[in-house]
Parts: sequence; structure tokens; C-alpha cells
Amino acid sequence: MASRDPKPGWPAVPAENAGDAPTPAAMLAEILAQVSREALQGEDLDAVLRGIVDCLVQRLPVAIASIILLNDVGTHFEREVYAGELLLVQPELDNDWPVTLGAAGRCVRTGQPLLVTDVEGDPDYVAGNPSVRAEYLVPIRHRARLHGVLNIESTDAGFFTADVCAVFDAVADQIAGAIHLARMADQLEAANRKLRQLSSIDGLTGIANRRRFDEQLQADWARCARERQPLALLLVDADRFKALNDACGHLYGDECLRQLARVCAQLADGEEDLVARYGGEELVLLLPRRDGAAAGLVAEQLRALVEEEAMAHPSSTVAPVVTVSIGVAALVPRPQGSPQQLIAAADAALYAAKAGGRNRVEHPPVAGAEDG
Ligand code: GH3
Ligand code: MG
Ligand code: MG
Repeated sequence: MASRDPKPGWPAVPAENAGDAPTPAAMLAEILAQVSREALQGEDLDAVLRGIVDCLVQRLPVAIASIILLNDVGTHFEREVYAGELLLVQPELDNDWPVTLGAAGRCVRTGQPLLVTDVEGDPDYVAGNPSVRAEYLVPIRHRARLHGVLNIESTDAGFFTADVCAVFDAVADQIAGAIHLARMADQLEAANRKLRQLSSIDGLTGIANRRRFDEQLQADWARCARERQPLALLLVDADRFKALNDACGHLYGDECLRQLARVCAQLADGEEDLVARYGGEELVLLLPRRDGAAAGLVAEQLRALVEEEAMAHPSSTVAPVVTVSIGVAALVPRPQGSPQQLIAAADAALYAAKAGGRNRVEHPPVAGAEDG
């Protein structure tokens, strides 16, 4: 099909449209509009940057278009998104390319756009394609922060007119906005992750809090029901803790609670195990895939370890040191059942341990348990 170039090197316009062929200025405006659309609609930052360089190479007589991103401290280039014909090997961008090197480095160091009209005569030019004659580099800057460089290379030495350069300046601004938005989204995501994590941790002991325990119990209940695996719960209650606070003060009581949490955490060491503060001076261990016998062994170990810690408790009726009573429950959950069954069973066992003299473990048979 016959065609007509609006300008040497510019994309051809089909002959039938030649009458209303766009001028270079109109094409530049249209390209800028297209870049704006790409910048706003990419799935993620990579897709946005790729869409922009692809658009530049497809729509303009450009041999290579690339966006070269700086690392966080601005000392090295760390990543490049490019389109076009990169025929020669370029430096690896794995933090290996300091901004002291290359024309892109010069652009970063000066902070100004850089037009190289004769690449062969420029000592800083790093060749990517032997046919390239001219190169234009624009800093990608959002407010005071320099994110990288937009690099455009053309085989036409006269391509970079003032109008064309102005378009690339505007494209660099679009890119800066897109990078800024993507980084803000990343920061927001990280802050949300941190917040989620904080909202599941008990402030005093640093172990999981009640909310996290409730969620995990629900999830483990459903999973163990599906897999027909037992789920065990240890309800651990410090003995005569009110008397400890009265005798030694709340701060000492707090320190004992932290120590209790550390000991519990030592024993809830399986990947799926959870230790949490249930409330007040009560802690829980949730142990998936542990039957009553296995959970009872853990509970007995825990009781003995707490006693061995020898945290002074001068006002206890049980021992001269801090002790715990533990109620154990284990069952294979039924899908239609409720996790409250497990809590109620552990609670009943704990009550029995207290009534039986404290500093002891109880795990009475549970209705509807393992074999039921
Ligand atoms: P029992 O052996 O029957 O469990 O006696 P107890 O005194 O431990 O039980 P009670 O339920 O009467 O009292 C619990 C005490 O735990 C009262 C409360 O002051 C104390 N406690 C709850 N949370 C904290 C806490 O965060 N820090 C401190 N220091 N004490 C707490
Ligand atoms: Mg209690
Ligand atoms: Mg208590």
C-alpha cells in the first residue's frame, strides 16, 4: 500500500488518509494523551512504564526508549524498562551502574535534561544500537526527589527539535507522577501490614492477643474438621495472681506475666502452634494436630517449667513461687460444631484444676471428643 510520511522518519500514514494526515505537532499531542492514559491505567508500575516506552517506540521514529530508575539513595541505577532495538550489550543494572558513569549518570548529576546531538562525539554515551545518532535524556523528578532518567535515542540526528524535546519533558513528568503514586501505594500497603500485625499483638507480653486467638481458633477449627485432625487447647491461669499484685505490686505482676508468656512460647513451638493472651492472667496454647494425650504432656511440661522459673510469690497459698493451673481440651472438630465447645471444655478442666488444689493440669474426657 502506498504511504506518505508526515516528516522523514515519522510513522507512515496510509495513502487514503494522506489528505488529513496529522502534523507532527498533532501527533505529539496525541502521543502525550496516550501516555497519560497508559500512566493511569497500568496494573502496576512495571506495566505503566512498559506501556509508556512501548508507545514512544511505536509512535515515534525512536530506536530506543528507556526508563532507568535510581536506587533509593540515588547512587546507582537499579532497573531499566526499555523498548526498541537494543543491539549491543549494556551494563547490568543490578546496582552495578553508578551515577558517575554514562550520559544517564551525567543527566542525574546535573539534574538537567541532556541533548546529545552527536553520540559518537560524546565520551559518556553508552552505545545500545550502532545506528543511533542522537540521544535525549530527561531527569524523572517528583518535587525534590529524582527517581531516574527517561532516555530516548534516535537514528535521526535532527529528530530532537525543541517541540519534540518538550514532549519528552512532559512524558518524564507523567512518569514521575506514576512512580510517586506507586511508591505511595507501596508505603500504604507496608503501613497497613504493620497495622494489621500490631492489631494482633498483646501490648504487655508481645504474644498474640485475644482477637488473633479468636481468628486462629476459628480457622484451625474449620481446617481440623476438614482434615479430621484433633485440635487441642490449653487454658493456662496464674494461681493467686491477685494476691501477688497485692503483695509485690502490679509492675512485678506484669513482669511475671511477660515471663509466663515467654515460657508458654517455648512450648508452643510447632509451626502451626499459637500462644496468645486470653485475658488478664490467662494465656492459651492452641495446638492443631495434637490429641488429648499429647496436649496433656505439653501442659505438664509447661506447669513444671513455670515452677522451675522460681518467680517469687510470697503470698501464694500454693507454693512460694508463681504457679499455673492448666485446663486441657482436645477434640476432632465437627464441621457443624462450634469452637466454643473447645473453650468450654478447657474452661471446665481449668475449673477442676483450681478446685483440685491449683498448680496442676486437668484434662477430663470431653463429650463429643476425639472418638466421637
Ligand atoms: P486463682 O488462683 O483463683 O486464679 O486466683 P487469682 O487471684 O489469680 O484470680 P482472680 O481472677 O481473682 O484475679 C486475677 C488477677 O489477675 C486480678 C488482676 O489484678 C490480675 N491481673 C489481670 N491482668 C493483669 C495484668 O495485666 N497485670 C497484672 N499485674 N495483674 C493482672
Ligand atoms: Mg483468671
Ligand atoms: Mg488466676
